[in-house]
Formats: sequence, structure tokens, C-alpha cells
Amino acid sequence: MKHVDVNRFKIKPKQRIRLSDLDTADTAPFASDDGAKKILQKLSKRLFDLTEVLYAQDRYSLLLVFQAMDAAGKDSAIKHVMRGVDPKATQVYSFKAPSHEELDHDFMWRCLKALPERGRIGIFNRSYYEEVLVVRVHPELLLRQPIPEKLVSPRIWDERFEDIRNIEQYLCRNGTVIRKFYLNVSKAEQRRRFLARLDDPAKNWKFSLNDVDERLRWKEYMQAYEEAIRATTSSDAPWYVIPADHKWFTRIAIAEVIIETLESLDLHFPRIDSRKRRELNLARRRLRA
Ligand code: ATP
Ligand code: MG
Repeated sequence: MKHVDVNRFKIKPKQRIRLSDLDTADTAPFASDDGAKKILQKLSKRLFDLTEVLYAQDRYSLLLVFQAMDAAGKDSAIKHVMRGVDPKATQVYSFKAPSHEELDHDFMWRCLKALPERGRIGIFNRSYYEEVLVVRVHPELLLRQPIPEKLVSPRIWDERFEDIRNIEQYLCRNGTVIRKFYLNVSKAEQRRRFLARLDDPAKNWKFSLNDVDERLRWKEYMQAYEEAIRATTSSDAPWYVIPADHKWFTRIAIAEVIIETLESLDLHFPRIDSRKRRELNLARRRLRA
């Protein structure tokens, strides 16, 4: 049974979006968080069962990309949604500002190295999308990338969108299923969460003055996100814009998308052929003897 109709968060190919027009506090069909924990537990259980089959079948891999403004709840959503899943079937990568070694390669290099193996779920906490988001909002970061000068033109963002689309399509054709999440938090809710980080000693470490500076560029970020989402959403690798003002709802919605995705694949345990069956029977006889 579906608890949330997540189709309304899915961005269709070429769909233009205005993030500020979307309801960041949407929790429909729930009026409150009553029972939210129970629902998430149920979804985790279902997710566990599905990932067991994904792992055993060893054909598909699932790549989940998480992007958001600071304090939108990426970390906690990843933690809560994946809590029940067998650790052997998941891997999480957090992408920070690129290192010297990483800058010495093309921008996809570090992400390609981190792709999930077949049978596993790979989670990207930030990703190659930073290259058309933070790098776009801060052109000085682009200048720091040692790309040959004549290859850097005003067309670079469209070129990167095209490259991202192509790489995602290539991955899909090889059995990597991709789902991308933008956690849509409001500017006001971000402010509340920043203040909470300042007031709570246990959360102080999460705070960086830089986060407040980035807040000043909110509008530019929203524009960069809107363009990136529109240019790279596809039926194979769709973006989902998930309301993120209520963390409990964000988690349920994300879990639903992942479950729906896994259910849409032809997942099944490896079939036992007659040779394998003979082997199992032989093992049983020997153990009993
Ligand atoms: P937290 O919730 O703990 O703040 P975070 O994902 O924001 O998690 P940080 O270490 O605070 O982690 O930030 C990582 C920083 O790295 C972000 O500001 C992000 O924009 C930046 N970053 C990631 N990828 C790139 C990139 N390719 N080029 C430049 N900056 C990048
Ligand atoms: Mg941060």
C-alpha cells in the first residue's frame, strides 16, 4: 500500500519548475506526524526485503543522488531511510570540495570511481551536480579548475548538462538505475535550523560561517537548481523535488520513491537450475550421513 503519492514530486522530461512556487511544507495526505515513525519502520522493512533480492540477483545497481541547500536534511534523510537496510548492500559517498588530485581529472572522475557495484545501492551525498550548482554560482571555482582555457566558454553549463545526460543514459543502459532527489527546504526553515545548530552545543560542529554566506546567494542557487533539474531530468534518471520543511515527511517520501523504483524492476532471487538442485541434494545427503 502506498502511503504517499510520490508521483507529484517527479519532474517530467523538459518540465520547467519554479522552486519558490512549490510547497516546501507539503505533507499530504498526512495532517501531522502522528504515526510517521511506524510508517517509516514499515517502509524500512519493505526496503530491506527488496534490497535482499537486489543483492542476491546481482544484476542492477541503484544510484541515489541527493542534492540540497545546507540544513535541508540530506544527512538525516539518508541515515533514517537506509537505517534498516543491510550494510553490505549499500555504500554512501559524501562529496566535498574537490581535492588537488580530483581537480587534476575531469569532473566526473571521482564520482565514477564511487559508483555502486551490481546488487547494491550507492548513495551520493552531493555529486557531480555540484559542478553545475556551486561552481556555477561561484565562477571563481571554475577558474581554479585547470581545464584548457579554450574549452571554457559561456556554453560550458549547457555542455555539462549534455555530458551529465549522456553519462546517466550510459549508466542506465548498463543496469544502473538512477533516481535524483532535491530536498526543497524554505529559506525560513533553513534559518530556523541554522539557529538551532547555534543554540545546541551538540550541533555546533555542523555550523560553518560559510553556510550563512551561501544563504545570501539563495536566489542564484535556486536558479541554478531550476536549470539543472530541467536540463537533466529524464524518464530513466528523473529528479524528484521533495518538500523538506518537515523532516519526517521527507523521509517517508524518499523511502516510497526508492521502494517504487525497486518494485518496478524485474527483481527475483537467482533461479536454481537442475544442476544446482542436484548439488543441494547431494549436500543434504552428505550432511545427514
Ligand atoms: P553538512 O550537512 O555537514 O554541512 P555538507 O554536504 O554541506 O554537509 P560540507 O563539508 O559542509 O558538507 O560541505 C561540502 C562543500 O563542498 C559544499 O559547500 C559543497 O558545495 C562543496 N562542494 C562539493 N562538490 C564540489 C565541487 N565539485 N566543487 C566545489 N565545491 C564542491
Ligand atoms: Mg555544509
